[in-house]
Amino acid sequence: MTKVVTTPDELRAARAELTGKVALVPTMGALHDGHMTLVRRAREIADNVIVSIFVNPLQFGPGEDFERYPRDLEADLATLAGAADLVFAPEVADMYPVLPPRVSVTCGEIATLFEGAIRPGHFDGVATVVTKLFTLTAPDVAIFGQKDAQQLFIIRSLVEDLNLPLTLEAVPIARADDGLALSSRNIYLSAEERKAALALSRLVRAAEAAAPNTAAVLRAVADNRADLDWDYTAVLDHRTFAQIDESFSGEALVMIAARVGGTRLLDNTIVHLRAGE
Ligand code: AMP
Repeated sequence: MTKVVTTPDELRAARAELTGKVALVPTMGALHDGHMTLVRRAREIADNVIVSIFVNPLQFGPGEDFERYPRDLEADLATLAGAADLVFAPEVADMYPVLPPRVSVTCGEIATLFEGAIRPGHFDGVATVVTKLFTLTAPDVAIFGQKDAQQLFIIRSLVEDLNLPLTLEAVPIARADDGLALSSRNIYLSAEERKAALALSRLVRAAEAAAPNTAAVLRAVADNRADLDWDYTAVLDHRTFAQIDESFSGEALVMIAARVGGTRLLDNTIVHLRAGE
């Protein structure tokens, strides 16, 4: 039986009754199979699975899609039936009795780059809500998708830098059959836009095919920039998020974002690179 709670007090009480290892999967709902790969992973590694469903206003900027972000709690609860033990689905006022909150989490420079440059304050909003969810659920492990690579990096930094008492587990990107990374925002795409959106996964595949040669990967990324309105196509040192050049050897993150119609889409891949002779 999946128990559903909506207030922080109810959540704390329900959490206190759980015995054994607890995994938390934070989401904004409109669940798709990408989310469910996280939930299934949670089930594999923990005795109890908590899923949160909350469209967090703090991580949306003015003019972004907070109002129209897809919400379907009933469908999400049906999807989670049996898969999650406890679902936390609060209203905004439950999470933020005072909005904006008097105290919040501020991230460092990393939160001003890439997604953070385009969405100022976004990662502070993410870090704040995730910290609250960690505090309320006291998980042994929290599960995040590689799909949001910069978010994952920032949450890793949050956990390490603030010594939060949990471990993180990352789950690879789940894709549709045509290669498009699954996203709740894909429903905004028209048939035409969805076809255009495949340029993201094409670029990712081209980068993977060019690995492990660093110069070849940089070239593949540059050569596949046609056809789309890119926000960024970055090749980064996965450990530091610094941009790499041809002399780099090690684990790199190819991280890309583009606008297709009015929709922003993200994709990425991790490649192991070796500089040429
Ligand atoms: P969201 O509801 O978009 O905030 O996503 C909730 C969690 O699901 C985040 O950790 C995301 O990275 C993860 N996620 C979203 N889409 C995918 C996907 N296609 N593959 C893997 N994880 C995903």
